[in-house]
Amino acid sequence: MTEIVDPANNLARVTAEIAAAARDADRDPADVTLVAVSKVHDAARIRPVLEAGHKVFGENRVQEAEEKWPALREEFPDITLHLIGPLQSNKVKPAVATFDVIETVDRPKIARALATEFDRVGRQLPCFIQVNTGEEPQKAGVLPVDVDDFVRTCKDDLGLIIKGLMCIPPIDEEPALHFALLAKIAERNGLKGLSMGMSADYARAIKLGATHVRVGSAIFGDRPKP
Ligand SMILES: *Cc1c(COP(=O)(O)O)cnc(C)c1O
Repeated sequence: MTEIVDPANNLARVTAEIAAAARDADRDPADVTLVAVSKVHDAARIRPVLEAGHKVFGENRVQEAEEKWPALREEFPDITLHLIGPLQSNKVKPAVATFDVIETVDRPKIARALATEFDRVGRQLPCFIQVNTGEEPQKAGVLPVDVDDFVRTCKDDLGLIIKGLMCIPPIDEEPALHFALLAKIAERNGLKGLSMGMSADYARAIKLGATHVRVGSAIFGDRPKP
């Protein structure tokens, strides 16, 4: 049976749930940005969400975004595209050319490469630092104990615009613990942005202060398994 997906309808539902979660937490819904994660999905699946007026999207692979988004941007101006997947040094140039926000600054080498490329093109993209809150060996991100130093290096030595922190909690743990930890680390570093919460847990993330939620399958449907 083929799954019937109505992305525009899903967008409306998710947007309403974000607003409700924000109000429950005595927060202004306008302070929470929905990053619609369109990775793997083709233009036909993304278009209804663009036609509904949504402007902020997330992709996790540089090459896929390079292939998909230039044409969509011509049709729909003023898109803000977030890179939410790992960045390799050899992809920094196309990433800076393709994206508007880099959420996954996770090591000094990438921070330096980004700073060099921003200088070269004369455009500074806002960045988030990815934190490996679960200290998982296979996962990208700065360890919690190293974040304070890394934030200082990025801001003071490299001149990056650090908007906040981002995390992807371990799949088998209560995400709220990780959201609370990320919020605490951001606060002690004077950072306002918190990119946390996905389809299964964005309401909880908003209660704990998320300013950006990254929601894919709740809008676009299940991703085809590779
Ligand atoms: C795929 C992805 C998401 C969206 O996940 P869903 O569970 O489909 O909402 C969020 N963040 C990152 C980093 C992702 O790779």
